[in-house]
Amino acid sequence: SIVVTGASGKLGRHVVEQLLEKVPAEQVTAVVRSPEKVADLAARGVRVAVADYNAPETFDGLFAAGDKVLLISGNEFDKGRVRQHSLVIDAAKAAGVALLAYTSAPATLTATLADDHRGTERALLDSGVPYVLLRNGWYHENYTENLGPVLEHDAVVAAAGEGRISSASRADYAAAAVAVLTGEGHENATYELGGDEAWSFAEYAAELSRQTGREIAYNPVTPEQLTGILVGAGLPEPMAAMFAGVDAAIAEGQLVVDSGDLSRLAGRPTTPLAEAVTAALKD
Ligand code: NDP
Repeated sequence: SIVVTGASGKLGRHVVEQLLEKVPAEQVTAVVRSPEKVADLAARGVRVAVADYNAPETFDGLFAAGDKVLLISGNEFDKGRVRQHSLVIDAAKAAGVALLAYTSAPATLTATLADDHRGTERALLDSGVPYVLLRNGWYHENYTENLGPVLEHDAVVAAAGEGRISSASRADYAAAAVAVLTGEGHENATYELGGDEAWSFAEYAAELSRQTGREIAYNPVTPEQLTGILVGAGLPEPMAAMFAGVDAAIAEGQLVVDSGDLSRLAGRPTTPLAEAVTAALKD
């Protein structure tokens, strides 16, 4: 079967929804910590398995020989994600899965946030399990789902300077994962995934202005200033510094992905940022 970890998350849900358009529900297994979060999927015939990246024994016997697995990276930054992901890889290896695809980060990204992804990639390659590296760029939704403060202050605040970023929607990255999980010939491939068009934060502010009819400015700050702002908003310091580090990386162009892999795998152009803005403003 096709097994998706992190299936209760936002990306995982998109993946499962798109899988259901291509394969019968009983061929899809959603791996979650909290089955109640995917009761709707279970009702549609999706198999649900309960496991936790922090508990190796919960992955015993979860995978079967020949399975195609999507390991969606976790979000517990303080719990040792490489160790967490490695236990999934170990279980997949023991079972003899046909493929393990992992949601990583672009090769060009050297910010601290990417360290766990590089570590997981190494563990996956060392395991000898047939792999696919889905090196996902940033989501549009990282920005468009957090418009509250932007609309409150009529300002986009970021430490990305004039840097550009080729983000895409979660649904786009999900489409790439589904293509890999349901297609052939992806063994041991690495895909650099990003949106077709890179944008700058000044352009993002201009698009927000256009769609809201207000004057929304880009207010560039330093990474130190951004860290302070995020701490002030209640984020733990290490997390704030990590996000500021990502902006500094964007300033250097580290999140521009121009491989074309995403639209090629999805079989269509990626979602324009403007569309994600429209969707977010409707909510
Ligand atoms: P979500 O936060 O919506 O989903 C994270 C998923 O990981 C959830 O299903 C969560 O389960 C699961 N998870 C976390 N910890 C564990 C654990 N210990 N055991 C089992 N499952 C666990 O993130 P998205 O779906 O939006 O993104 C997927 C991943 O991509 C993120 O986890 C993160 O690694 C990365 N990411 C990428 C971004 C990008 O722009 N490319 C931006 C943000 C994150 P539960 O529902 O039980 O909490």
